[in-house]
Amino acid sequence: MDRDGTILVAAFALRDREGPVSPVAEKLRALLPASLADVAEERRPTLEDDAIAIIAEDPDELAWFQRTVARFKSFGPLSPMPLLEVYACPQGDYRWTRPNVAYPVPLCPSHRVALDRV
Ligand SMILES: [Zn+2]
Repeated sequence: MDRDGTILVAAFALRDREGPVSPVAEKLRALLPASLADVAEERRPTLEDDAIAIIAEDPDELAWFQRTVARFKSFGPLSPMPLLEVYACPQGDYRWTRPNVAYPVPLCPSHRVALDRV
């Protein structure tokens, strides 16, 4: 995979993906800063290597990641990601991204509790 910034964008997308939090997403949460804008330029190559190493531990996650990288590349030059509201279960097992404010925030499907804005 070449290094045009897509790798980190896709790694953040995997971390913040909707649905149950996978072990890989959990490890990416520990690795990555809050947002892409917080990544210092000199840290970028190391973060990319570390993110790929984590994602490669799970063949299904790796397949999802590679599809996502390919999809982002098909958009052409990277545009800034829109600022989306992300919500998470207080128990840490579920994340949900609000497409826009018209969508009501759901409950965690397993704990039936309100999600917190993250
Ligand atoms: Zn939950």
